[in-house]
Amino acid sequence: MYTGLYVFPFFAYHRKTVEKHGLSLGVAGDPGKLWILAREVAISARWCIITKKRGVSMRQKIQPYLEQVKENTWCIVTGYARIPLYKLNKQDVILIDSGIPEDGKGIVACLQKARLNVKAVLTSHKHPDHIGNHLLLRRTFGAKLYMSRYTAAACAEPMNQVESYLGIASYRNIAQMMVEEFVPDVVIDWRGDSLEAEGVRFGILHFPGHCAEHMGFVTADNVAYLADTVLSKKIVTKLRTSFCTCVELDLRSKEAASKLKYDRYILAHNEVCDSIEELAILNRDILQGKADLLASLAQDYVTLEELVRRLMIFTGNDMSSVHKIRGTHHNVHVLLDYLLDTGVFTCRARDGKLQYKKQ
Ligand SMILES: [Zn+2]
Repeated sequence: MYTGLYVFPFFAYHRKTVEKHGLSLGVAGDPGKLWILAREVAISARWCIITKKRGVSMRQKIQPYLEQVKENTWCIVTGYARIPLYKLNKQDVILIDSGIPEDGKGIVACLQKARLNVKAVLTSHKHPDHIGNHLLLRRTFGAKLYMSRYTAAACAEPMNQVESYLGIASYRNIAQMMVEEFVPDVVIDWRGDSLEAEGVRFGILHFPGHCAEHMGFVTADNVAYLADTVLSKKIVTKLRTSFCTCVELDLRSKEAASKLKYDRYILAHNEVCDSIEELAILNRDILQGKADLLASLAQDYVTLEELVRRLMIFTGNDMSSVHKIRGTHHNVHVLLDYLLDTGVFTCRARDGKLQYKKQ
């Protein structure tokens, strides 16, 4: 149902783009090619909603506060995330993830103001906005840290984090960004269906794709935390990147999320909702739409560099920014792997360069 809503603004924006950059895209003066391009773009119209001139900032500056989700399941609401909090009793709690380091002081102040003591922190995945305050919580409250093997490896050594930065940051950048290396108290069996922490059982939801060993949790109140598998509509509709390491697995995870039946859902970025099907499908369709659009830009054999350039023209991205070109590069790379894997693209070697084309 979302697709139709976005077709018109898409054309309004992209007709100008196509006209302006027709020459750059190799279709100027060739109405046939221009028509094919327009048709392909129409097919990938689901993607258009992420093509607004500006990307989205997932960060807002607010003082973290508590929000009840259902019975003993709460959230710490920060400007960047919703951090699930499960109350074991009046003062002891378990958190799932710990937010970005910049929110650390505010999160601790919020917990202390409510006289809450963190007994344990479960971890959905290794990205720094999910593990940013693990050490702070261990040092402040003596919290036990739970994470899977791969997440633990990433927290123990910057080199293991390189992949999680989606190719945008180098080893040195990452080593500087990491709060401090640490090892967990408990290693979660990622393949298991559930785990016990402080005498309470949490269900495990397997969501590979966003990154390796990415998982969600279900609290005893039948509330599911989906981590980064499903983003709020506000965020997903403005996000430029594919926001995942493996498109194929992430699409499957979004599909799986759409079929869940729990009482409520907590999205790390950044919402609580009562139903998930429509939003999970929107997340899936937007990601698929990004792959479709990239395919539509490779009617002829093109190099990775050229694909990056064409995509930046279409998204109205800042083509003079090294950071944005590098980000788009990674984005295209991830999508290319998916398009090659699924046989949508073919690849050939010419003069020492790889060239791609939609089959
Ligand atoms: Zn993440």
